[in-house]
Amino acid sequence: MSIPLLACERVSKLYTLGRSTVRALQAVNLTVDSREFLALVGPSGSGKSTLLHLMGGLDVPSDGRLRYRDQDLTSLDADALADWRAEHVGFVFQTFQLVPTLTALENAALPLLFRGVSSQGRREQANEMLDRVGLGERLDHRPKELSGGEQQRVALARALVGNPELLLADEPTGNLDAATGQTILDLLGDLHDDGIAVVLATHDPQAAERAERSVRLHDGRIQVDA
Ligand code: ADP
Ligand code: MG
Repeated sequence: MSIPLLACERVSKLYTLGRSTVRALQAVNLTVDSREFLALVGPSGSGKSTLLHLMGGLDVPSDGRLRYRDQDLTSLDADALADWRAEHVGFVFQTFQLVPTLTALENAALPLLFRGVSSQGRREQANEMLDRVGLGERLDHRPKELSGGEQQRVALARALVGNPELLLADEPTGNLDAATGQTILDLLGDLHDDGIAVVLATHDPQAAERAERSVRLHDGRIQVDA
């Protein structure tokens, strides 16, 4: 049997606020295979964002391990984890998280700056990805000159520009109207068809139906894995 792309092994996350402790995740076991399309569902507060952040190396677990292929992510220091993330993961947020002063092209190219890609290379690759998400005509627009759906496409282009094997999307349609949300979900489906593993966190059952597999979180635990 081939090893999974990403494995969460008894992963827990505690948040301490003053004297109270929130158990956001409790001993979660979950694997994601290469090229899989997985939906992470559950009500608000069930731990979806927390788990997605751990999967993408944006945060570290309180207990348990994360493995990427045969690499133990939990053993990496912050710099090494950031390098791993830049090389392997694309992340899309509900609120887009674009830099307001940069154009669509500059936003999409941003991850390449940290990788030392030349200015021309950055332009070419970002342009290609913006074409890929249907925004080739909006390269010089700043976020406030774009609709919500267009901003999320720029965010998708930025997530894809480094050719990640794993795309993590946290409620990517949560701030979009239904029709625009569908076009973003269509794009995620296309990316999955192209061979990228996609994990989609959503509280929307219809969005989750796009995935091949659904995992439900409740109070920080996996409920059903079917
Ligand atoms: P979901 O994405 O499913 O809505 P989250 O992962 O955001 O759930 O939150 C899971 C639980 O952890 C919630 O009870 C939330 O209040 C808590 N939580 C999330 N982030 C933090 C934080 N930075 N500090 C304290 N508690 C947090
Ligand atoms: Mg969330």
